[in-house]
Amino acid sequence: MIVIENAAVATVDAEDTYHENGHVVVDDGRIVAVGAGSHAGPADRRIDGDGCLITPGLINTHHHLYQWATRGLAVNDTLFGWLTTLYPIWGRLDAEIVGAAAGAGLGWLALSGCTTTMDHHYVFPRDGGDVLAAEIEAAARIGVRFHPTRGSMDLGRKDGGLPPDNVVEETDEALAATERAIDRWHDPSPEAMLQVAVAPCSPFSVTSKLMSEAATLARRKGVRLHTHLAETDDEEDFCRERFGCTPVEYAESLGWLGDDVWLAHGVHLGDDAIARLGATGTGVAHCPSSNARLGAGMARVRELLDHAVPVGLGVDGAASQEASHLGGELRQALYTARLRGGPTALTARESLRMATMGGARCLGREGHLGSLEPGKLADLVMWRLDGLGHDGIDDRLAALVLGPPAPVELSLIGGRPVVERGALVHADAEALTREARRAHDRLLSKT
Ligand code: ZN
Repeated sequence: MIVIENAAVATVDAEDTYHENGHVVVDDGRIVAVGAGSHAGPADRRIDGDGCLITPGLINTHHHLYQWATRGLAVNDTLFGWLTTLYPIWGRLDAEIVGAAAGAGLGWLALSGCTTTMDHHYVFPRDGGDVLAAEIEAAARIGVRFHPTRGSMDLGRKDGGLPPDNVVEETDEALAATERAIDRWHDPSPEAMLQVAVAPCSPFSVTSKLMSEAATLARRKGVRLHTHLAETDDEEDFCRERFGCTPVEYAESLGWLGDDVWLAHGVHLGDDAIARLGATGTGVAHCPSSNARLGAGMARVRELLDHAVPVGLGVDGAASQEASHLGGELRQALYTARLRGGPTALTARESLRMATMGGARCLGREGHLGSLEPGKLADLVMWRLDGLGHDGIDDRLAALVLGPPAPVELSLIGGRPVVERGALVHADAEALTREARRAHDRLLSKT
């Protein structure tokens, strides 16, 4: 049993209960008590949280871990221009490069307060080895809860798509590989450390056939669905020209709206589209830093929340968001909402809720993750807020969201420490850095 006390606690329960000085008790991987004041009774480990704020672990709802190997390229380009530069490089990925990139990306995510992350992997070079297995091994090495998605692209340039033909798969081959990934790795149990979802890449890189058959496959297997949607004006133009409708109308026509679907970005959405997402319970992975880095636009987060759309936060791939700091997205989400909708468009509490319960809803884990309540899995982060960057901001939730990215004093995943005093417990950050650097150099020198 672990007792953490003398810390501020933001529970993110239905009432947004907040304790200025409270405790959290963890036993056998789950939270058994949360409340005000200290906690008497026996403990295997008793932690003094003085100067800290405990929140639910942050949940990252959109990422491409392999992109850690291609950070800092095409830094002044649009999404389509950036993709056109990067696709040929990604076509040379192999399992070793993806494993090293994922190790670095996951280590960094853990240090930024993430306890659960998805990954959207959609590049499977023919001679690249088992790239999905490589990132799953990396997640086990760091100790984070992992939701890899088996992505795919089958609409190459010769068929009017954006990616070069050598990085796309045959439709049936992509579907069969996706089913194998689910059979091999998906764990449906409430405590799962590993769950797989189905994730064709985007309207401009995937055929309608693959989109609709992917939805059928996911529902037959009881797993979730994810894709990029409504990220840029270029994508909207592509959908109108090719399909004669908006991206959301296109998604709906293929069976891609529902409470088992979450969509990355959702930046360019009209009122009707937002209403349809709300009515169908379709989630959105909001990636404000990536949207800013690529100049894609500002998502209508206030309106999405007002229509009861499940909204989570995502860092997105590190090639379009080199910072990749999930804690930092709390502030970026608030800034973006207020730039778009004015000073009352989003509160610090709402930003934290998106990064925790919102993310849990996107991943279908809201019954077991996303808030600090007895019975839930013990995924939590204790942020240190008494250092130079934060001390003097008396409202610790404001310090976390509005202040600089806060150091993680402790993070627990299923009650198991994964970060302590700002360092990874199970992996060596220097080794991860060296491995990722080697992978980057090797990838860029490959021809
Ligand atoms: Zn993405």
